Amino acid sequence: MNKPIQVTRSSMPKFEEYIEEIKDLWDSHWLTNMGIKHKQLEAELSSYLYAPNITLFTNGHLALECAIAAFNLTGEVITTPFTFASTTHAIVRDGLEPIFCDINPDDYTIDTDKLEILITDKTSAIIPVHVYGNICNVNEIERIAKKHNLTVIYDAAHAFGVMINGVGIANFGDASMFSFHATKVFNTIEGGAITFRNEKLTKRLNDLKNFGIIGPESVEYVGGNAKMNEFQAAMGICNLRYIEGEIEKRKAVVERYVERLNNINGIKLSEPQLGVKSNYAYFPVVFDEYQMSRDEVFEKLKAERIYARKYFYPLTNNFECYKDRFDVEKTPVAKYIANRVLTLPLYADLVLEDVDRICNIILNKQP
Ligand SMILES: *Cc1c(COP(=O)(O)O)cnc(C)c1O
Repeated sequence: MNKPIQVTRSSMPKFEEYIEEIKDLWDSHWLTNMGIKHKQLEAELSSYLYAPNITLFTNGHLALECAIAAFNLTGEVITTPFTFASTTHAIVRDGLEPIFCDINPDDYTIDTDKLEILITDKTSAIIPVHVYGNICNVNEIERIAKKHNLTVIYDAAHAFGVMINGVGIANFGDASMFSFHATKVFNTIEGGAITFRNEKLTKRLNDLKNFGIIGPESVEYVGGNAKMNEFQAAMGICNLRYIEGEIEKRKAVVERYVERLNNINGIKLSEPQLGVKSNYAYFPVVFDEYQMSRDEVFEKLKAERIYARKYFYPLTNNFECYKDRFDVEKTPVAKYIANRVLTLPLYADLVLEDVDRICNIILNKQP
């Protein structure tokens, strides 16, 4: 019997390397609240992401909530439903109304041709999502945002390390949220960051993640607690040493998948984007009039203890908690893709024999 294959597997440094990294915490007894590891990781990520302004958080979701709060947004925010629960929840939890724009059928990011028509006098921001490592049409979004004086905050949880024409993805929009969750390309166990354009926001973001406390006797904002601790930061410091190698290994897995699944009737793969250096975060496959439906492929793999993921499904505008509030028919392309997409297992240490085994099952081929 083959070993089960999960959709992802967290990258980890050698045990001894992590222990070595956390050793001095037993000298300092400084475990959280922007300690030495936190500062080091922040500096290293600033450099890796080409992001002059960055602040770390305990996870990506709270980072996004704090970013939205930092810009004092009001009213309506245009976003997409083809995303993880976090994006929509952050908007709603910050007291704003998400307005859903449809997505492109080829890269699954916001369809900028359908965006402008959704802008009203209540719109304060656009929160687009880079999906699977594909990036949004950043130039068109910038043009629209400038024209209508809107804030742009990217959900860049999937886009760690992605570059376009040599520019780090963190440099677009007013801010970007990165997630360092265990399942992401780069992890700090749980973790996240906001990168941002205006240096003046540094203090506000730092205060928002620490209860709005600005001095021993002074609390200026209604902030929450979203600080990254030293053990998370130490994990990040270790993992960052190997990130390029990890991405290279992911690339080899993706190339094998493409080689096996390319040009098959009814199987649609995501095309590489022009000028984009990918991070190979996910491998989405769209089953469209294939000999098996998406759900049949999912079950067939599961019977072999291979766990693909219906990601993103359901759409966030179709969640029970938003029942009767939004209409999925207004985002037909997102609905179409969500019903047909499957992300296949992908992580740096996935061996190519297992990729072949997965592809054989999908293609109904004997090994
Ligand atoms: C992972 C993820 C998040 C949330 O990040 P956490 O670090 O898990 O809180 C937000 N948006 C998207 C698209 C994600 O994939």
